[in-house]
Amino acid sequence: MNSGSKCDSPDCENTAKLQCPTCIKLGIPGSFFCSQECFKTNWKSHKVIHSLAKGECNEQKDKSYNPWPYYSYTGKLRPYPQSSKRTVPLTIGRPDYADHPQGYPLSEQAVKGSGLIKVLDDEEIEGMKVACKLGREVLDEAARACDVGVTTDEIDRIVHEACIDKECYPSPLNYYEFPASCCTSVNEVICHGIPDTRPLEDGDICNVDITVYHRGFHGDLNETFFVGNVNEKVKNLVKVTHECLMKAIEIVKPGEKYREIGNIIQKHAQSHGFSVVRSYCGHGIHRLFHTTPNVPHYAKNRAVGVIKPGHCFTIEPMISMGTWRDEMWPDKWTAVTADGQWSAQFEHTLLVNDNGCDILTKRRDKNGQPHFMDKL
Ligand SMILES: [Zn+2]
Ligand SMILES: [Zn+2]
Repeated sequence: MNSGSKCDSPDCENTAKLQCPTCIKLGIPGSFFCSQECFKTNWKSHKVIHSLAKGECNEQKDKSYNPWPYYSYTGKLRPYPQSSKRTVPLTIGRPDYADHPQGYPLSEQAVKGSGLIKVLDDEEIEGMKVACKLGREVLDEAARACDVGVTTDEIDRIVHEACIDKECYPSPLNYYEFPASCCTSVNEVICHGIPDTRPLEDGDICNVDITVYHRGFHGDLNETFFVGNVNEKVKNLVKVTHECLMKAIEIVKPGEKYREIGNIIQKHAQSHGFSVVRSYCGHGIHRLFHTTPNVPHYAKNRAVGVIKPGHCFTIEPMISMGTWRDEMWPDKWTAVTADGQWSAQFEHTLLVNDNGCDILTKRRDKNGQPHFMDKL
């Protein structure tokens, strides 16, 4: 909060220390009070802004959906209503967080801070290969669906059903209470966009991030797709972002340091005038969705660890046209660029072998090329 700001109560000169919890939930900025007492005294006049935000006032009715009227958006994209959480049949094996009331991955939290990077045995390697192959098949279905007029909620439905068909639990579902089965990140959304009922428009870019959980293992990948006719500048952003991922993968081999990956990515992004997002990183993945190592995509990072055979992790650079800075929508998930300029991403899950790595999530047709290249 802003330190030194004054209490919202009209005649109070005290420094504000508390923020209204309802305002935090609704994404209304400000609303600071010096004490519970001032907050209570002003409750009657203060609570009006909650109803305004929830669209309960007559004035707000019939205007377009806007869950956070006090939030100032960085770009042109707006949230649309979401469908309710989908369910997965109990016959499909599920991760621990699927049934946790706050979606906490207790198995991940238990090993947090240990710093150890797991070396997978043969059985675990086989498990990862299968999960990643299934994840790839699900992403290919999402790619086929992604088009002008299609909502990201419809893509989520297709992803959800494809997962169930393949005996997979869609890993994002209920992870820290994430409400959908995949992430869909459109235009200035950097990552973790929530599928909603906005129809995709001609010229948009849409990243779909898929993770599936199959027989105890997670496989994670994402691609950015073109929606209809995309302008040349945006096409170049997407192309360069994919090159960043592939150049980084080229240096993955035993003995290389995890921190080198970011140097390769930033060098390439910067040479095209683009920036590298710093708040979100690649991650170890196997029986756990997100674990050690942490893999930053920016240069001169201080990532810990040396790459060894049997390590399994993702590289997933997010590259932006303007600033590298991000901010979050009040839904606490959607990460957007701070200047509203567009951002692209690609991701693979990698298994380190004796002299390099296998791309476990590689596309099996078209020489492994990403889907956007089909449209170039
Ligand atoms: Zn992912
Ligand atoms: Zn990931």
